[in-house]
Parts: sequence; structure tokens; C-alpha cells
Amino acid sequence: MIMQKHHAFLKPDHLLSTWSAFKSLPAASRALCRYDSKDLWELDTQRLPMPMANLRRRARAFAESVLAPGVRILDEADHAQAGTLHPQAAQVLSEAGRQGWMTGILPVPLGTAGVAEMAYAPHFRYALQVEEFARVDAGQMLLLSAHQLGLAPLLLSMDPKLWWRYLRPMVHDFQHGIPHLFAFAITEPGSGSDVEEGMGAELARPGVVAYRDGKGYRLRGRKCYISGGDLARTLTVFAALEGEPMSSWTCFVVQSDQPGFSCRRTELKMGMRASSAAEIELDDVRIEPSAIVAGLRRGWALNRATLNMSRFPVAAMAVGLARRACELALDFCVQRQLAGKPLLHYQEIQLQLAQMIAQTRAMRSMLWQSASGSFVPRQSEASMVKFLASDQAQEVCTMGLDLLAEVGIGSDCGMEKLLRDVRLIRIFEGTNQINRLAVMEDLQPLWLQSGPGSISC
Ligand SMILES: Cc1cc2nc3c(=O)[nH]c(=O)nc-3n(C[C@H](O)[C@H](O)[C@H](O)COP(=O)(O)OP(=O)(O)OC[C@H]3O[C@@H](n4cnc5c(N)ncnc54)[C@H](O)[C@@H]3O)c2cc1C
Repeated sequence: MIMQKHHAFLKPDHLLSTWSAFKSLPAASRALCRYDSKDLWELDTQRLPMPMANLRRRARAFAESVLAPGVRILDEADHAQAGTLHPQAAQVLSEAGRQGWMTGILPVPLGTAGVAEMAYAPHFRYALQVEEFARVDAGQMLLLSAHQLGLAPLLLSMDPKLWWRYLRPMVHDFQHGIPHLFAFAITEPGSGSDVEEGMGAELARPGVVAYRDGKGYRLRGRKCYISGGDLARTLTVFAALEGEPMSSWTCFVVQSDQPGFSCRRTELKMGMRASSAAEIELDDVRIEPSAIVAGLRRGWALNRATLNMSRFPVAAMAVGLARRACELALDFCVQRQLAGKPLLHYQEIQLQLAQMIAQTRAMRSMLWQSASGSFVPRQSEASMVKFLASDQAQEVCTMGLDLLAEVGIGSDCGMEKLLRDVRLIRIFEGTNQINRLAVMEDLQPLWLQSGPGSISC
């Protein structure tokens, strides 16, 4: 790299630095151009309404105290047999449960979200906490958040009987430090994108089928890549009705101790290793009518509604990883000396750092604007921020690795792990291509109805 010879750093007391120049202005003028450069995280936190700022602070404290000790342990642990919970992960889940992080999207008295927090959309609240968790460890973050994905269809069903039957015992267990995980099962060996996109679903052949059995059903088939599917006590499993196409998709609650349920294996993934991705087998799992969520043939709608909610937190994962890449790069450039000066003082380095930070903040701005704007998560907004943030986060992490060079590729500093983790975000909750299509799917009818010249973006 050709380095700019200029010393790209004006000390705060230099006459030309804004720090000192502004001091010479009259006091009234200084009210408009005060120069007090602030920690960026603090600045963003202070801009949030008080209950959300408090939530963000608590999430950061939890991540730094409870998740941080297990980052290397869980990333480097041997690939565990399906169904084995690492003692470190068990400890994290137990503490997360006690502190209310596993039940925080559920309203009081069912869950642990405080009354002040309930004024804000669940997907916004959840996005705030997920950024903090992912910044410290995306693997443990996924271990915790796959659970929220699993219970989302039950929450969305708005059925108090189901809440009482399935969610209440889970909340009770977590409050007492006993891990009681949920998982969300839509993906099948033959259908990944097809179960997240209408056009694909129209042609897809359902792999998991519900066969009529008296008043209930029997589920048969395989689901794959189910986050935490081997550890979950309860799974929301989506299946088509016998002889019917995907439009018959129905959501069923399956308990992992039911006869016919088994977990074949978990994947050895490139990233987010603290979270398992399980292949589960359903071999005539008996379903009582009371375990059908929101009624027959409503599974497709529940699935899409769940994804609309969860794609905001997925974008927040990307923001958390990009932010960590910025922080690691800044630390490195402050410490690392080149020709007697910190790397931070070279303008070429500054250009790259400024780009990384601005990109990360742009992702967060888009996320906060679209997630906090409405209680109802809009498909086009959720998908736009999911694909944009995860693409950009990968770029930011790559720039970070470029800056750290050989230091970055070692496992000690954490930059290479960010790249392994960030890559997965572009795949799950619909690949980024599928999310681009979801934007079009959502807005196409409106645009086709609009008269010439009346479309606005
Ligand atoms: C870490 C991780 C955790 C996961 N957790 C869960 C979970 O908890 N529960 C669950 O059910 N699933 C989960 N999944 C599965 C995930 O949702 C799927 O991997 C994802 O939807 C993509 O499906 P696929 O891998 O089968 O890719 P495919 O659908 O086979 O796609 C292959 C390629 O084709 C492209 N493609 C497909 N269709 C189109 C189209 N119409 N137009 C343009 N391009 C297209 C895709 O973008 C992709 O590039 C997880 C996956 C990962 C990686």
C-alpha cells in the first residue's frame, strides 16, 4: 500500500482543529456548533426512547458478561453429537432464561417484557438485543434467537389456549434457569428457498406430510438445517396435508419426546458453531387436534408472518458483526505502528475505517427506521434490510480483515470468525436472492395497479 506522507492527525489543541477553533466562537454560536466528539454507541443509545435505551444497555452488559467467556470455547469445541448441550452453552441458556432474554418478546403476564417495553414493536425490541449478542458472539446469539423463531408461530396464532399449554411451562422453566428451547422447522432436504417464496412453493413437492389419523394426524418426513432442532423440547413443524399441495401447509406443535421423533445428525458448519443445525426425522409422529397452530391450511401464512418478523433481527445480527469488525479494526489501527506512527494516522487507513463505520451506521439507521416505524412488520421492508445489511456486513468484515492482514486470519483476534459467521446470514431466513424477490412480491400488485407516473419509492 502506498502510504500518504502527511501526518493525518491534528491534535485537539492545534489552531486548525475544530476542537480548538470552535472555542473561539461566541458562546451563543457554540450552542450550534459545539464540538464534543462522543462514543458512537452511546450517541445512538441516547437517541432511543428511554425504555429502548435501557434494553440496549442491559443487552450489552449481558453479552459482555455472560456470552463473552464462551466465545472461543464454543467455537473451537469438537463437533458434538446431536442432542448434546455443551456445559458452557447450558450455563448461558440458564442465565439468559433467568434474566428474561429467552422470553422477552412475550407480553406480561405470559413472558417477561416489561410494560414500558410493550409500547414498542417486538421485532424492534428483539433487533436491539440481537445486535448486542451478535457483536459478542453470533454463534451463541443464534443459539438464543432460534428459540424465539420457534415460538413465533405460537405467538402469532393469538390463541390463549396454545400460549397457556406450550409457552407458559417454557417461561416457568427459563425463569428457574432450566433451558426449555423451541425450534422452527420449515426447511426440507428438497426445499429451502421453495418454502420461503410463493412461486417456488407453487411447484414444490412437500417432503413432510400430515396423514389423517382419526381426529388428528401423523407426521412423516424429514426437516433439515433446523437451528437447535436437536436440543429443542418443542418444535413448530410445518407440513402439507396428505394429497394436497403447499397451500395446505399447516403448523403443528411437536414435542421432542414424542414417539417417532428423532434427530439424525447435526451439520459441521463453517460459522456460528455454538448453534447446532439439525436434521430431524418424523416417523409417524402423532398429532392431536389441539396441537394444530391457528387451524388447518394456515401454515403458509404463519410461516411468512414469522419470517417478516424475524428478518429484522436477522439484519441486526449483520449490524452486530459489522460493528465488531469496525471495533477490532480500530483497536488494531490504534495499536499497530508503522514508521513510528499508529496506523490510524495514515489517510489511506482512515478512508477505509470511515467507510466501514459509515456503512455499519447506515445499516443500523435503515434497520431502526423500518423496524420501529410500525408494529406490523412489512415484508418489503423486512426483506430489504435483511439482504442489504447482510451483504454490507460481509463487505465491512472483509475490509476489516484486509486492514488486519496476517493478524486478522489468526483465530486469536476474532476477525476471521466474523467472516465465517457473517456469511451464514446471507443464507438463512431466505437467501438474499429470495429476499430480493420478496420485495418485488410485496410491491408488484401495488405497482401494477398504479397509473402511469403515479409510482413513488
Ligand atoms: C445457519 C443456518 C441456520 C438455519 N436455521 C434454520 C431453522 O432454524 N429452521 C429452518 O427451517 N431452516 C433453517 N435454515 C435453512 C435456511 O432457511 C435455508 O438454507 C435457506 O432457506 C436456503 O435454502 P437452501 O439452502 O435449500 O438453498 P436452495 O433453495 O437450494 O437455493 C440454492 C441457490 O439457488 C438460489 N435460488 C433458489 N430459488 C431461487 C429463485 N427463485 N430465484 C433466484 N435464485 C434462487 C438461492 O438464492 C441459492 O443461491 C438454516 C440455514 C442455515 C445456513
